[in-house]
Amino acid sequence: MILENYMLAGKIASAVRENARKKNHIGRTLFEICESIENEITLLGGRPAFPVNVSLNEIAAHYTAEPQDRIQVKDGDVLKIDLGVHIDGYIADTAVTVSYNSKYDQLVNVTELTLYEAIKIAKVNTKSNEIGKTIENTIIHNGLKPIQNLSGHSLEQYTVHAGKSIPNIKTLGSSFSLVNNQAYAIEPFVTTRDGLGIVYEGKIKNIFSLISRKPTKDKDLDNFITYLWDQYKTLPFAMRWLVKAYDESILHDMIGYLIKKKNIRSYPILVEGNNKIVSQAEHTFFIMNDSSYIITK
Ligand code: MN
Ligand code: MN
Repeated sequence: MILENYMLAGKIASAVRENARKKNHIGRTLFEICESIENEITLLGGRPAFPVNVSLNEIAAHYTAEPQDRIQVKDGDVLKIDLGVHIDGYIADTAVTVSYNSKYDQLVNVTELTLYEAIKIAKVNTKSNEIGKTIENTIIHNGLKPIQNLSGHSLEQYTVHAGKSIPNIKTLGSSFSLVNNQAYAIEPFVTTRDGLGIVYEGKIKNIFSLISRKPTKDKDLDNFITYLWDQYKTLPFAMRWLVKAYDESILHDMIGYLIKKKNIRSYPILVEGNNKIVSQAEHTFFIMNDSSYIITK
């Protein structure tokens, strides 16, 4: 049952990712891209596991369109599209980078190659630091640089980042082995040689998730928490998704307050330390009976 859910989520996620890869996004707004991808997920029978991330150029991750986002993809941009599909909370997490600047085609190709090399060795009992070593070596051999503070991760039902991190670099010290009945995502992030290879948090925060349902003594806020729990459980959500049910200025106030009260957390955008271009590729796999199923293949 769990494997079936993962396989279906993965099938939908790959179909949507491949359509996004083929499409010419130049001139489209980030809003249009996010909404059309999320609609496609729903039409195919899945639910978005998190707001589609559409991170441009030096933004590595965690940008999703605002409710009236007018930012357009331009010729010369490098766009990372990271999407998640869930079936009953079982998540397929996958990403693709599209380059509209031939200067960065090699960056994108090396990122795909790196993911392929890492997935190839990801089996039951593989050590996480072996995967990190393979990722870093492949990137360095091609004259590029890994982002060292972004990583792959384990996934659980209704939890995208479930505690175990799969590094994108060689690490010393603690390591874990991949186990049966567990889903993992591998996601190398690569920048150019003159990049810092580290991302920092930017000011923009447009992705959130519920971290506690503790009551607030305010009926409206408690109802809002119940609404978020019913809709998304512990999965991330965007302001864009809530403006259909709530007034935008009220939403800003409620979310701001609930962040202070630690009922909600936010995910700031992550930006390359030297503002260099970043590329990403990602697959999710599930290990069962000593076999590894790449669900987003
Ligand atoms: Mn992802
Ligand atoms: Mn991921």
